[in-house]
Amino acid sequence: MTRRNRRADYGRILIVGTGRAGVAAAEELRRQGYPGEIAMVGAEKEGPYDRPSCSKGILTGHKRPQDTRMPFHDEDLTWYLGRRAVDLDPDNRRVETDTGESFAYDGLVIATGSSPSMPKWAAEPGVHLLHNLEHAWSLRRALRDAERVIIVGGGITGSEVASAVRSMARNCVVIDSKQQVMVRALGEEVGNHVTDVMRGEGVDFRLGHRVASANRFRDGWMVQLDDGENLVGDVVVATTGGRPDTAWLENAGIDLSKGVVCDESLRVVGLEDVVACGAVATWPNLRYGPQLRKAEHWISSLEQGRGAARTLLAEDGDPGPVTVIPRFWTEQWGLRIQVCGELVPDGEVSISEMKRHRRDTARAGVVVGYHRDDRLVGLVSVNAAHAFTSLARAMIATPLPAVQATPMPLQTDKPLNTEIAEPARRRLASVA
Ligand SMILES: Cc1cc2nc3c(=O)[nH]c(=O)nc-3n(C[C@H](O)[C@H](O)[C@H](O)COP(=O)(O)OP(=O)(O)OC[C@H]3O[C@@H](n4cnc5c(N)ncnc54)[C@H](O)[C@@H]3O)c2cc1C
Repeated sequence: MTRRNRRADYGRILIVGTGRAGVAAAEELRRQGYPGEIAMVGAEKEGPYDRPSCSKGILTGHKRPQDTRMPFHDEDLTWYLGRRAVDLDPDNRRVETDTGESFAYDGLVIATGSSPSMPKWAAEPGVHLLHNLEHAWSLRRALRDAERVIIVGGGITGSEVASAVRSMARNCVVIDSKQQVMVRALGEEVGNHVTDVMRGEGVDFRLGHRVASANRFRDGWMVQLDDGENLVGDVVVATTGGRPDTAWLENAGIDLSKGVVCDESLRVVGLEDVVACGAVATWPNLRYGPQLRKAEHWISSLEQGRGAARTLLAEDGDPGPVTVIPRFWTEQWGLRIQVCGELVPDGEVSISEMKRHRRDTARAGVVVGYHRDDRLVGLVSVNAAHAFTSLARAMIATPLPAVQATPMPLQTDKPLNTEIAEPARRRLASVA
């Protein structure tokens, strides 16, 4: 393998994956003054789009295809869309695609996100997934003629689908193994409140249950639960999560057990001049400690994409850690739900209701804080945007002591910063 440390010599940086993380990386490369070719390889035929719209405006018909385009600075990027990477040969620095093309690179950004897998219980074709525009259009078409929709998975996407379905005056039942919806994302307190709101909006639930099988029945489906109950519906949607899209990296000789394993700067462990970002990557987010973590949301993917780009261009091989504070939002049932930080299960919980003693706590506004060692480390709010914003700002501005306190395999004595560290900025400016 040839070692090339002078980033200014990079003739071509190849970015595989044209979602939030890949596009953010491309923009950041230009912002940092990288003058060479940036080649964008993406499996989907569409240019970059707003993936969160797939479970929101597109389903309800409030958004058209042109409304979902991702705004970005297309500063001299070369696009190779409709091409799926199928192999990475790191020794020869080449990526092969399913079109038979081979792309050489000097630096590589892996940003292939995650993909949903069809659950084992879906023995027959026709169960809907919801991960991309094609899925969203297909589900939207199916919803037009549906009367009852069976949604498997009460996470954020499943709850958003339920919201869309009810807004179209269709019936739906949500199945989840947990006792509340969105528990992993929102914690138990807010999960409970939102579950109540959904009940009030007419959603039927089968909570604490798993699906055993789903089979065609007359013109629709029969879904059997683990307690033997049979549910009949016209459409079945599985929103049971995804896994990192790493199939094309299987011959690259890297650890893919938890996604693409990176160091604290998002350099892919075991490869040279290769970084990863977004939902495909797993890395020690040193704001929280040395454990490998994922950035599972839109804003985190954007921040990781930027961080990975800066790492790739750093001249001395020591670009400093990329740290991210998890943040996301969802809008459903007329509720604006916002999350920031980590909802630590073992932390202390504080609950502030905006209008106390109102029965519909969620609609009236509620903020739940998660504390560890007397510090606010996580925040969830429903219909309380102002309170959320000021608390989240304060939380983001406060560095956590986790890195200094915990011994780590990937040590760093660099200051933690969610923005680019100044020395790197200066180094990168010299590339232009
Ligand atoms: C329905 C839905 C709703 C969501 N709603 C929200 C929300 O409200 N708020 C929020 O914060 N987050 C939301 N998310 C999560 C958010 O969309 C993701 O966190 C974010 O898109 C991850 O960005 P990414 O660039 O890592 O991956 P992706 O956006 O998945 O992009 C990866 C791209 O790589 C391409 N690709 C994959 N494999 C290959 C290959 N081998 N070769 C070439 N290209 C490849 C894919 O086709 C895709 O275009 C939602 C996700 C979904 C699916």
